[in-house]
Amino acid sequence: MRIVLLFAVLIFFSGISVEAGEITKKSDMYEKRLELYKKTETATGVPWFYIAAVDQYERSIRYVRKDLPKPDGIIGIYIHPEQWKGIANPDKKDINPVTISFFNGLGQDGNGDGIANPNDEEDVLFTIGNYFSKYGVDDTRFRIALWNYYKRDKTVGAIMTNAKIYRKMDRIDLDDKAFPIPKGYNYTYHNTWGDRRGWGGRRMHEGTDIFAGYGAPVRAVAYGVVELKGWNKFGGWRVGIRDLNNTYHYYAHLNGFAKDLKIGKVVKPGDVIGSVGSSGYGPPGTAGKFPPHLHFGMYKDNGINEWAFDPYPHLKAWERVERK
Ligand SMILES: [Zn+2]
Repeated sequence: MRIVLLFAVLIFFSGISVEAGEITKKSDMYEKRLELYKKTETATGVPWFYIAAVDQYERSIRYVRKDLPKPDGIIGIYIHPEQWKGIANPDKKDINPVTISFFNGLGQDGNGDGIANPNDEEDVLFTIGNYFSKYGVDDTRFRIALWNYYKRDKTVGAIMTNAKIYRKMDRIDLDDKAFPIPKGYNYTYHNTWGDRRGWGGRRMHEGTDIFAGYGAPVRAVAYGVVELKGWNKFGGWRVGIRDLNNTYHYYAHLNGFAKDLKIGKVVKPGDVIGSVGSSGYGPPGTAGKFPPHLHFGMYKDNGINEWAFDPYPHLKAWERVERK
């Protein structure tokens, strides 16, 4: 009995120390990452939040793309070998900055060891910084540089979103989340993912409905930028916010918007963006065709396409953390 108890105590304490260890590891990682961004800013003149924005975008797509290696280091940027060495370069694993430059490859030596190593994080960051520095360092020029590099509007938008958040918050440890309805308000929800919907033809239900009273506050769940605000015949008054993981959060059937909410605004988890209503299923202003609720949807973009995924497990997790 005593031995069992001892084991239980040991397991309990080792569990705690693992958790604490993970937390310090994460903050250490953020510290190291920010240090590398700032070093790149010093070396290339490109503000750290632009570098951070590209790095975070690349990290986020690598988690959901099968054709890209999963991120494993502090830095998330992946430069394709063809781009690194130069397309016409016959040496597939060229790490010589002189020949790489001769074949118009991007690869640079960032730490002064004489080699341009695509597996060296300082070389990778310097290479990216060097690329962007050629365009100039304001939002307009950065946007042009992004377009030429990625050739996709949505990607440019996602990276500009990241840059705006990092610049405004002036830090990169921005993992906090909030449940959309604050404590003290009654609400109910269950998993409604995939249910059939009646209005406007047969559509799959792409989200979770959180039922609450008219006027209950609706809050941003993550750090993000408001991308959409207005009326849609299905969603009524709705708001769309993109976060740092290139996940789009969709809030529909609102009663109204928070006064200061506008497109382009940076929001923090817990910021009130509007209130629960029953708007939608008709021309602007239509309401009351169903009980008041927040329709909450999540969409993931992987740099090629965007798809809806089930927000229910995420809502449950945010709720659990917040109610602790
Ligand atoms: Zn719904």
